[in-house]
Amino acid sequence: MNVKNGKDNKLIVWDIDGTLIHCGSCGRNALNTTFKEMYNIERAFDNAKIGGSCDGVIVDEILSYYNLPKNEIINIKEKYSQILNVTLVEYDNNIVLPGIVNILEFINNSDSLYNALSTSNFKIGAKEKLEANDLERFFEAGGYGDSVTNKTEVLFNAIESAEKVYGKEFRKENIFVIGDTVHDIKSAEGLRVKSIAVATGYSQYEELEKAKPDYSFKDFKEYEKLIEIINK
Ligand SMILES: [Mg+2]
Repeated sequence: MNVKNGKDNKLIVWDIDGTLIHCGSCGRNALNTTFKEMYNIERAFDNAKIGGSCDGVIVDEILSYYNLPKNEIINIKEKYSQILNVTLVEYDNNIVLPGIVNILEFINNSDSLYNALSTSNFKIGAKEKLEANDLERFFEAGGYGDSVTNKTEVLFNAIESAEKVYGKEFRKENIFVIGDTVHDIKSAEGLRVKSIAVATGYSQYEELEKAKPDYSFKDFKEYEKLIEIINK
């Protein structure tokens, strides 16, 4: 970890899918393959509401639906991460979104800015997605979708994790949540921290604007503009 000695410390909390990267339906496909291989169930997740829900909740619902025991989750996660790993390698459209590496590097090299994750992915799934895109080197702290029910709880855990890992306290006005959905904006609102919406994922720019984020972007191609906001 870089030693940082800045004064006005700021935490930048990132969503993964549609914000840092795009991997299409890699998560859903990997979950479908997992259930096919483990239980011979076809397309178990085709109708699951994957967009805004935490992975733990999604899998829990499917386990109930098929009358499978809840403690299967441990084996499912292990199998899922192996399958996701293969899926990500095979999938051509697995990309890092424009400007992202520039911004993450800027934050890493800064004296007072810190990165963290706030994702509804399983921790193990987040790790696979970041590794496949060479982004794991930027993240030492995060909140995940394993055993929480919504993104506000994920964000709470993300901030707690960052404060522990970095040994710093972040004031609310110095915490920025960056995400591609209304769920990300609402999570920031719920904890009274700042939100930055980016329309590189599943929601239209206009739809995100309606949720009143503090800042909104169509994408981060002109990443200097985002750096200006977080580095003020
Ligand atoms: Mg997202």
